[in-house]
Amino acid sequence: MTDNPALCAALDHNVPVLPIFIDDQGVGDQPQNGGASNVWLHHSLAALHQDLQDRLVLFKGAARDVFEQLADQFEITAVHWNRMYEPAPIARDKALKQWLTDQNIEVESHNGSLLFEPWTIEKKDGGPYKVFTPFYRKGCLNAEPPRTPLKAPDKASYVGKKVDGAVGLDDLKLLPKLKWGATICEGWDISEAGARARWDRFVEDGLYNYKKGRDRPDKQFVSRLSPYLHYGQISPHQLWAALDHYDQDQNVAHFRSELGWREFSAYLLYHFPTLPEQNFQPQFEGFTWSKNEEFVRRWQKGQTGVPIVDAGMRELWTTGYMHNRVRMIVASYLTKNLRQDWRDGLAWFEDTLFDADLASNSASWQWVAGTGADAAPYFRIFNPVLQGEKFDPEGDYIRAHVPELRDVPKSYLYAPWDAPKDMREKYGLDGSNYPEPMVDLKQSRKDALAAYEHHKEAR
Ligand code: FAD
Repeated sequence: MTDNPALCAALDHNVPVLPIFIDDQGVGDQPQNGGASNVWLHHSLAALHQDLQDRLVLFKGAARDVFEQLADQFEITAVHWNRMYEPAPIARDKALKQWLTDQNIEVESHNGSLLFEPWTIEKKDGGPYKVFTPFYRKGCLNAEPPRTPLKAPDKASYVGKKVDGAVGLDDLKLLPKLKWGATICEGWDISEAGARARWDRFVEDGLYNYKKGRDRPDKQFVSRLSPYLHYGQISPHQLWAALDHYDQDQNVAHFRSELGWREFSAYLLYHFPTLPEQNFQPQFEGFTWSKNEEFVRRWQKGQTGVPIVDAGMRELWTTGYMHNRVRMIVASYLTKNLRQDWRDGLAWFEDTLFDADLASNSASWQWVAGTGADAAPYFRIFNPVLQGEKFDPEGDYIRAHVPELRDVPKSYLYAPWDAPKDMREKYGLDGSNYPEPMVDLKQSRKDALAAYEHHKEAR
């Protein structure tokens, strides 16, 4: 309800407002959400319904059909919505806008989710930026500052009557049959109040440790606000403005710049809509990823035999979240050591992350794979053993997510395959309790580099 420009604009008309949500997944060109996203959406809609005094009205189907039905029942003065910036919703909303205009209905879309409209940030030559630092520093920080967040409306008048064609929340069938759909929600309060509580906790524990601490998956130094940002339970404008109340030190600046990465991802997808499907750098076209379904399956299940990778993949499956540092490690392992296509990783994240976001997910996978805009070069291959030692120095993160390794001494926790035979037997590191590694890290690194060199020469 806070900082919701479409809702505020609708209420400004001083006529009763009908707050609606249309689930059009899979209708026409509209994409299907991943499983975790739908779990989040279900609980978000329940919470929003409550915040709106039980007045949220739900529909399932094509947006245009829903509006035709509504126009038969109501004298619609105006329609307001908050913009989406992904290719399929943009096309849908453009067509809908035209149709509503043709019906003589006033229609306006608003910016509820980005600090900077993607079409307003451009290089001197008028083209879009492809590199983060100039995008953020020259583009965003020199642009018109983000608008002040809007207060939640203090009084509102909603349409009271029953609406034909509306469905109940359960009719949307957003929750999976698997018990997983309930267990991943543990520890999350999926509501606007939950977002505010997360922010308060982050300010207390994380903000002043953020610059260095954000790399530590074993600590509570990051905000975990990404799903709330994706679903609009908190807006980047609220965070940007809230940061003004604290010392403008390097931690605050760094947190702002991470919001900048979110903007950059949305910007890239807006200007380069094939980002989720095609290598951003065309020189990667024709690069041979080795197709191995067993590798992908074991990676998804956190059964690779590399502790920090397995910890990350299990954190994802059990909580719908994975720490950013570990996202980079597991993505590097999949695309470099296992040489699987980044699109396979993207699809799994899309299905299992609460914060699955077409822009950030595509931009980040391409970044790690080395194929993206301003990407880490392909030859930068994370060593998951060193990464574990450096960023999970006590092994708390690994032990929390891989219980088979709970009692393994720290000296072998990051590379259990190096443990002496008797220890491997004692802790079941020989595959009886915890899997042996699928590939040799050194050899697979060499193979990845050789494949890359071969591809460069063949072009
Ligand atoms: P914090 O560190 O608290 O940062 C605050 C906010 O800044 C985040 O909530 C997020 O909105 C934004 N942010 C931080 N880092 C990044 C980043 N690198 N790129 C874009 N925005 C960022 N993020 C998603 O929101 N959705 C995704 O689907 C997604 N997929 C990813 C896939 C891979 C392979 C990688 C390496 C990263 C991905 N990220 C994605 C980016 C990043 O990992 C998450 O935004 C971050 O971990 C969310 O946790 P947080 O809210 O605690 O972040």
